[in-house]
Amino acid sequence: PQPDPEVGAAVKAADRAHVFHSWSAQELIDPLAVAGAEGSYFWDFDGRRYLDFTSGLVYTNIGYQHPKVVAAIQEQAATMTTFAPAFAIEARSEAARLIAERTPGDLDKIFFTNAGADAVEHAVRMARLHTGRTKVMAAYRSYHGGTQQAINLTGDPRRWASDGAAAGVVHFWAPFLYRSRFYAETEEQECARALEHLETTIAFEGPGTIAAIILETIPGTAGIMVPPPGYLAGVREICDKYGIVFVLDEVMAGFGRTGEWFAADLFDVTPDLMTFAKGVNSGYVPLGGVAISGAIAETFAKRPYPGGLTYSGHPLACAAAVATINVMAQEGIVDNAKRLGESVVGPALRELAQRHPSVGEVRGVGMFWALELVRNQETREPLVPYNATGEANAAMAAFGAAAKKQGLWPFINMNRTHVVPPCNATEAELKEGLAALDTALSVADEYTA
Ligand code: PLP
Repeated sequence: PQPDPEVGAAVKAADRAHVFHSWSAQELIDPLAVAGAEGSYFWDFDGRRYLDFTSGLVYTNIGYQHPKVVAAIQEQAATMTTFAPAFAIEARSEAARLIAERTPGDLDKIFFTNAGADAVEHAVRMARLHTGRTKVMAAYRSYHGGTQQAINLTGDPRRWASDGAAAGVVHFWAPFLYRSRFYAETEEQECARALEHLETTIAFEGPGTIAAIILETIPGTAGIMVPPPGYLAGVREICDKYGIVFVLDEVMAGFGRTGEWFAADLFDVTPDLMTFAKGVNSGYVPLGGVAISGAIAETFAKRPYPGGLTYSGHPLACAAAVATINVMAQEGIVDNAKRLGESVVGPALRELAQRHPSVGEVRGVGMFWALELVRNQETREPLVPYNATGEANAAMAAFGAAAKKQGLWPFINMNRTHVVPPCNATEAELKEGLAALDTALSVADEYTA
């Protein structure tokens, strides 16, 4: 059916009257009323269609409304919509089996949560109980979720309002050569110095006080900084040396986003705990979880794990995960992300960087790319200041408006745009979005100096 603008107006009015939105000053936002979505596109009630280069919040890895996953959800709803977590349920068992089959190393036990943040909460709790230690180390330029512990681990401004509300978090700098904290000029230097910085921080904090180090395998929201070769293996070694639990957060990077089932596969590292959510079922029904190593599972073999959720392993969410994983395997979606990331997205973005003075750096892999926009390529001054709002953010606002005018819905965070389309986007869709991005970057170029 044709979208009806009158319905759209009612949807918008009720939203503005009653919906309290995340992370927002409620009166300063103007949410688009969305009428529908399919594949890589969504559209509003005026019939305007957008190519979604954000995959929602980087989670619709198979695009919107995949018919096989929709059918699996309908089928599960018809047979067993819900059931309590203490029972063995077919959809839950099968989801756990399919996930454990794909996670690296001996991460063979799956604890299901409702989303990413609570997966992080539980990973930290498991690490604390396993080690008998309290502190957790996390990186600046990271995001781990909106709940109390997860937001305190987060290394971006969203943490500030909740600072101190969770005990024992120590932040450190992870490698990021383009804006090196270590005066490094090569990836090798950045890697070695970041590891040295981490180990020194551990020494001064007291190795025996640290339960866990948590890292996004490739930091997502904070800027898609692919770690240099050897960094994650180095962190793994440091964790082993001091008996620290190594947690990799794959909530955003997991399930095909990087062109591998998990980003850890790119670096050949196995953490002790791995968190996931988002792509596990493309967010069709909320689901997250923690994949647990043999040693940590053993800690809770005879001693109860003190944690749970009413909806842990919800059948509807798990059925969506089973269908999503099977669809990803059958349709070669992980391979599509790798292949088109290498052959189409990466080369096109590097070509845009050649022509647009506003592009400071292009980085990424698979369907997981960031363009760092700058005022000046020499000085690398960001196109807008860190955490800018209002007038100070005018350049990024103009860039975003230009993209939308071209029918492209862009992901924007501070001075960056991320190119994070669905992992099954076609070559034609990607080329369409990249052409729109080209036009929008010309607007960003006007703000360079
Ligand atoms: N961890 C990472 C790496 C994320 O990107 C996110 C969300 O963007 C989270 C955790 C939190 O997940 P959720 O919003 O599902 O709670």
